[in-house]
Amino acid sequence: MTTLRASVPDRAAAPSPLREPAFLPLPPGSVEPRGWLRSQLEFMADGLVGRLPELSKWVRFEGSAWTAPDGRGEHPWEEAPYWLKGLGALGYALGDERLVAEFTRWAEAILAARSPDGYLGPRANVEEKPGGGFGPLSGERVDLWPNMLAVDVLRLHHEATGDPRVIDALTAYFRWQLALPQDDLLPGYWGRLRGGDNLDAVHWLYDRTGEDFLLRLAERLHRATAPWSEGVPDRHGVNIAQGFREPAIWWRQSHDPADLAAAERNYREVMDAYGAVPGGMFGADENARPGRCGPRQAAETCSMVEFMHSFQVLARITGDPAWADRCEDVAFNSLPASHTPDLRALHYLTAPNQPVLDRADKSPGIGNGGDMFSYDPRRYRCCQHNAGQGWPFFARSAWAATADGGLAKLFYAPGRVSAEVGGSSGSADAETRRVSIEEHTNYPFDGRVRLRIETPAPAEFPLLLRIPGWAAGARASVNGRPVDAEARPGAFLRLERRWEDGDGIELDFPMRIEVRRWSEHGGAVSVRRGPLWYALRIGEEKRVYWKDGDWEASELWPTTPWNYALVLDEPDPAAGIAVEAEPGSAGPLAPQPFTIDDAPVRLRARARRVPSWGLEPSNLVRELIPGPVRCEGPAEEVTLVPMGAARLRISVFPVAGRGDEGSEWPPLDATPPEAAPDAAGPGDA
Ligand SMILES: [Zn+2]
Repeated sequence: MTTLRASVPDRAAAPSPLREPAFLPLPPGSVEPRGWLRSQLEFMADGLVGRLPELSKWVRFEGSAWTAPDGRGEHPWEEAPYWLKGLGALGYALGDERLVAEFTRWAEAILAARSPDGYLGPRANVEEKPGGGFGPLSGERVDLWPNMLAVDVLRLHHEATGDPRVIDALTAYFRWQLALPQDDLLPGYWGRLRGGDNLDAVHWLYDRTGEDFLLRLAERLHRATAPWSEGVPDRHGVNIAQGFREPAIWWRQSHDPADLAAAERNYREVMDAYGAVPGGMFGADENARPGRCGPRQAAETCSMVEFMHSFQVLARITGDPAWADRCEDVAFNSLPASHTPDLRALHYLTAPNQPVLDRADKSPGIGNGGDMFSYDPRRYRCCQHNAGQGWPFFARSAWAATADGGLAKLFYAPGRVSAEVGGSSGSADAETRRVSIEEHTNYPFDGRVRLRIETPAPAEFPLLLRIPGWAAGARASVNGRPVDAEARPGAFLRLERRWEDGDGIELDFPMRIEVRRWSEHGGAVSVRRGPLWYALRIGEEKRVYWKDGDWEASELWPTTPWNYALVLDEPDPAAGIAVEAEPGSAGPLAPQPFTIDDAPVRLRARARRVPSWGLEPSNLVRELIPGPVRCEGPAEEVTLVPMGAARLRISVFPVAGRGDEGSEWPPLDATPPEAAPDAAGPGDA
């Protein structure tokens, strides 16, 4: 049984002052990804994560401030521990010995470098800098933000190996933190906004040791962190994606329902203002800017993976499956397009409408100046090191342990889980058993999921299956017989029985085509089917501008028209859109289904060209205008592909006017000059 209380044996009888999360993560390696998900991880192992030391000076072991016994060396900031989080998670997810060995080498070095006073990390992060600081906006004497990442690295190392030195090292480090004056605890910009990560790690250790000083430190960290309980205190995309969940973490200690509700309120506040787009992200390129809310505003790749991680944490704390829906939305619709199909290059910013990926400066339409859109394995420093956590964390979080000895299914993807089940919090000596569950599915492209139980002997445990919020009419059966309980969308279906070897569960999530109208964008529309949003299939021309071995940097240019408005049948706009191809539930997918050629599902829709909708001189797509819009020419049949597969993409479409009617974009030179409310340079976090 995987419960928190079980891990503190001598305190097992006493209730913890920390609220127990609804679900707990399974140990690394419990979930074996297969099919398309495994191939994402294999691409990463042979791409930007597994081979990053070929490209990045920040992750060289020799000379690193993270590995030096005295904590003195190069690159003491976030890059190396960012990379290690993804590297370790990837290694354990794949069972890849080379990656695990490299991760372990670093973890060992970080452990070996701890100071006698308990401090853990590069000395530079706690010393006065003659030049005035290190991180891009950080000039403070103490900057514990990068150390939070190293703590995460050690947590993973402990969860995978049980190495007791991690407990000792983190206990000493957190005692060192407790001795800091309150004003020195999280004085830096990044640390103050992201203090929830530090808080979460302190609770993680408390769950294992029960030492009271950790609760005092947690209270001080909560006070030192930006006040996310009261609202959204910052407009930096990654800070929001990472920081907004802090009150829900603090809720475990405060027990105040307002803290739990604050994470949901923060999410809504940001998404209502900047996230009225398909793909689960919000426009912050790299800061969210009032008035810059349309589908050409972009999300940083770091924001995607941090948002996904936040959703995983919140799903486990709250048990609310809506957070898992939100994680899938980002994972399937936004994350794939942030990288090239081989996962050997990425870009900084991905937007729902983005028909040209060139190197031209698009500021102030996009907040950051410089090249933000082309795919380059050498650049976009923070994302380059941080993006590696995306798919491995997703894979590990596909399943979780429930507090009563069962398993919860958070995400659907092909794979196999092995875990201890049985027993319950109330009966510590109840029988536990190791079971495996195979998952066969082509989800998210297909709504049929088959689960098969493998157990050496019958085992009684609850199985909680997430029914996605969009899945009206979902059906579930066990061994061919429909289950009695209702498979209610947006809830967990709880199946509790004595499971036998070979028991089969079938889930069917009907995927209907829906047209979403965005009142925020002049009545423009997006098309979704099940967990996937759809974008115009735009022909791609790759223009390579740098190459070294099998690494290359490239622009992507359209070879087919992109300026279409959808022709919709009223009053049922989805009626004119049809599925063109759909895989069988057992059919093989391409190793990389997130491309315009190999996406297994396509939709057919009717659309008309919009001659007045073009690009700005920077090749940034012009913002949408209130529709319907004036079109020319007859309605054509166009192909829509999953938005995650479309790197060049229009996923928020204007609606075509009738005949010659409709609004037009004004000529470019008549457009008033753009104001730049607070254009910021590209940050490195
Ligand atoms: Zn980044």
